Amino acid sequence: MFRVISLLVVLTIFIQCKSSHPGIDNQDQDPVSKHGQLAISGKHLTDQNGVPVQLKGMSLFWSQWMPQYFNKTTVKQLKEHWNCNVVRAPLAVERGGYLENPEREQAKVITVIEAAIQEGIYVIIDWHDHHAEDHVEESITFFSHIAEKYGSYPNIIYEIYNEPLNVSWSTVLKPYHQRVIAAIRTYDKNNVIVCGTPTWSQRVDEAALDPIKAKNIAYSLHFYAGTHKEELREKTISALDRNLPIIVTEYGTTDADGDGNVDTEETQRWWDFLDAHHISYCNWSVADKQESSSVLLPGTRSEEIHLDQKLTPSGKFVRAKLKAQ
Ligand code: CA
Repeated sequence: MFRVISLLVVLTIFIQCKSSHPGIDNQDQDPVSKHGQLAISGKHLTDQNGVPVQLKGMSLFWSQWMPQYFNKTTVKQLKEHWNCNVVRAPLAVERGGYLENPEREQAKVITVIEAAIQEGIYVIIDWHDHHAEDHVEESITFFSHIAEKYGSYPNIIYEIYNEPLNVSWSTVLKPYHQRVIAAIRTYDKNNVIVCGTPTWSQRVDEAALDPIKAKNIAYSLHFYAGTHKEELREKTISALDRNLPIIVTEYGTTDADGDGNVDTEETQRWWDFLDAHHISYCNWSVADKQESSSVLLPGTRSEEIHLDQKLTPSGKFVRAKLKAQ
């Protein structure tokens, strides 16, 4: 009897210790602890057990223009108060970005990568360029460094070309992607790499006709709900019919220029479509610029991202969707 009571006492103490130690419980719930190493299987992004998984989160803004949100507080707030399981870090390339200030811009992205690892969420590292085929050496230098340093973490997703312009998939984009993929694979054999598609990452149907033959490759689709509607969803379906794995690394609730009306009806149609196909998506953007795609009101600090009164109409709309998942 004494032994039974002793055992119960020990058990009770153990249970109390576990429940009073928030670190243990939180770690169990972290998205990366839960889903682990991602992969591409057929047209799906899958978790460590081969089950389709959907990442939903926020994109930060161009690193050279919104450096104030490239920090740990932002990442923590997006995870805890926006229910994001992924954050996208856009490394600006042109216009005062990585080409002119490589160390400075890279450091901002690394801060976000380390915060995402600490918080247990996924991070999309975005070469935010419209002319990456002209910057392939710089892109290789950057991604080689990141892959060597962080390629062992399941958190990392590489997005090697944000938005190509109206250039050929087969003769311009595919060769660019193949070179950057080879550089990353020198250091990191398995993390997912997302490839930009022609015309501001809308022509997934063109990529689907001539896909890259390599492991764990996905293709990006971008849309702005005020501009891109059923016609773009039809192109997407034609790519899905060819088994192309697609990730929406960036979308907006507004017109394609990031401003104008917040089109809640069309955005809802897109969300329903993406959810039905298990396609991941990140909203543009965590910014306080005065345009309607920004989720924050002017002057909002990272510490205030959880406050409803600091959010724009788009911010409130997108956060409600993320929190409902
Ligand atoms: Ca890896």
